[in-house]
Amino acid sequence: MTPKSLRRGLLLILSSPSGAGKSTLSRMLMDWDPTMRFSVSATTRKPRPGEADGREYYFRSRDEFETLVAQGEMLEHAEVFGNFYGSPRGPVEAAMLAGTDTVFDIDWQGGQQVKQAMRGDVVSIFILPPSIAELDRRLRSRAQDSDEVIAGRMAKSRDEISHWAEYDYVLVNDDLSQTFARLQTILSAERLRRD
Ligand code: ADP
Ligand code: 5GP
Repeated sequence: MTPKSLRRGLLLILSSPSGAGKSTLSRMLMDWDPTMRFSVSATTRKPRPGEADGREYYFRSRDEFETLVAQGEMLEHAEVFGNFYGSPRGPVEAAMLAGTDTVFDIDWQGGQQVKQAMRGDVVSIFILPPSIAELDRRLRSRAQDSDEVIAGRMAKSRDEISHWAEYDYVLVNDDLSQTFARLQTILSAERLRRD
């Protein structure tokens, strides 16, 4: 393995339509390699049952969020499903310098902004569901959103999917352990590719 101190941390962006499996895969990545850092986003959406402030997200009011953006503290931000989401800049820059890899679970708008800001350090992966019907099933099986919220997310899924070609890699998340094995392969190769 490349010694950590000899390379900058890379920025691994995972995007997908809601329900395709990004959160599951990013949790598996962190368990597999605890030296990686998950970029905890700020959001104006309300916490789901079981979500804790500072762990899944920093839950903020709209005013607080706008202040963070105005102060330049967001590496990227976007409106998704009627709420604001953004990635705090400071921890990402510190991790890069320390040689720590950062995982982002962000949408295509955020992905584009991070690529523009940090081009050479970004590896982007788009996760596709095996079918639209399976995406709907997964959103329901997660059992954390109302029917109305699920319908809204399904309606937006084609829009998110239409951006797949902007990513470095595309994974169809059919069998979870196979998808995770492919993710590990990508990360291992990208770590070796870097100067
Ligand atoms: P996202 O973060 O993309 O919105 P999640 O990771 O929350 O999606 O996954 C949505 C649901 O689908 C969860 O209940 C998760 O356990 C399940 N899931 C994820 N990947 C798979 C898979 N390959 N096969 C079956 N179910 C999956
Ligand atoms: P959820 O509400 O299901 O946690 O996330 C909804 C969507 O917002 C997902 O597509 C997720 O990737 C995206 N998202 C989460 N955090 C951020 C962020 O910091 N920036 C951007 N641009 N999108 C985010």
